[in-house]
Amino acid sequence: MKILVINCGSSSLKYQVLSMENEALLAKGLVERIGIEGSVIKHEKIGMDKVTKEVPMKDHKEAIAQVLEAIQNPEYGVVKSMDEIGAVGHRVVHAGEKYSESVLIDDTVIKTLEDCIELAPLHNPPNLYGIEACRNLMPNTPMVAVFDTAFHQTMPPHAYLYAIPYEYYEKYGIRKYGFHGTSHKYVAQRTAEKLNVNIKDLKIITCHLGNGASVSAIKYGKVIDTSMGFTPLQGLVMGTRCGDIDPAIVTYIRKKENLAQGEVNNILNNESGVLGISGISSDFRDLEEAMAEGNERAELALRIFALKVRFYIGAYFAEMNGVDALVFTAGVGENSDEMRAHICNELGNLGIKLDLMKNKVRGKETVISTDDSKVKILLVPTNEELMIARDTYEIVNRLDA
Ligand code: ADP
Repeated sequence: MKILVINCGSSSLKYQVLSMENEALLAKGLVERIGIEGSVIKHEKIGMDKVTKEVPMKDHKEAIAQVLEAIQNPEYGVVKSMDEIGAVGHRVVHAGEKYSESVLIDDTVIKTLEDCIELAPLHNPPNLYGIEACRNLMPNTPMVAVFDTAFHQTMPPHAYLYAIPYEYYEKYGIRKYGFHGTSHKYVAQRTAEKLNVNIKDLKIITCHLGNGASVSAIKYGKVIDTSMGFTPLQGLVMGTRCGDIDPAIVTYIRKKENLAQGEVNNILNNESGVLGISGISSDFRDLEEAMAEGNERAELALRIFALKVRFYIGAYFAEMNGVDALVFTAGVGENSDEMRAHICNELGNLGIKLDLMKNKVRGKETVISTDDSKVKILLVPTNEELMIARDTYEIVNRLDA
């Protein structure tokens, strides 16, 4: 069976087609500038050159129509007709407390996700546009929703509740939800496979360090804590997000700068993080370069980033009473040996010893700890799309059974 995976953002859309018999990636692509001038689709049939096509796309439905055209194209497509696509898997950011697993999409699921819009106003609407567009264009193809929040639903109340009046949890659902769940789940599973140990016997700390970043504590296969919270703003310092700060700062800045609430949100989400500290860039490559040239604020930003990751490693070590594996993934985690070295520096007392030679690796599944390190350190490239395709395949196969 071939599966189409769709990850819809507000003005962009990523997609992949996978053949599930051997989990092979057949094609992938990206649509950018949906609804704005200069809409473009970049499509790649694996093994062939990338095709770039500028074509107006005023909404997500037109974008999906272009994706379907590309994957059926006689020259660079991967299916003859849409009948070959057995199902579509959609990434959805927020399912609140409703779903702890992926689900087959029906009208009830759509309604539930619409109810979650308030919890994820930036993410859930485009996810829903993508689903709606696909249902419109492929009315007979089963669709599955795979949620960023689902894997974190095993957190116990003492980990997910905030110390604010309990009624706000009851009335408004204010609690920690956690995000990047699909990625944390994938790398944790791969870690268990790589170490050849049952995940139910492992305590794992997974560090998803990309533009958005989070750390999870996964004890015996279940998340018991994670660094992102009610929204993806909490936790680590990120590319442009502030992470944990004293909440009093929010009202203080607002008053001092005479800002509207929306403006404060924008500052904390888009102008903070390593960008805010360095004043240079949210991109870690730029910062590493600037630091090498002696830029002190770039160095400071990277130090603060690393310190927060170390902080969570220490916290989750305590929360799980030890750890067997520490895993790095996503853009920074997979590519920056410098950042991994910085984070793991002088953690020997926790049994965490990085092998600096083995660490000189990029984007490849590898054990990078010393032979005598009590905690295995791993680099595991994430693959959220494969995870979405697997869940979709499994759910659709159950339907057929
Ligand atoms: P997201 O999916 O959250 O947008 P990614 O996981 O793709 O982010 O990570 C993007 C980040 O990875 C970039 O901002 C960049 O800073 C970082 N990155 C990519 N390659 C490297 C590299 N070679 N060295 C350091 N950082 C890198």
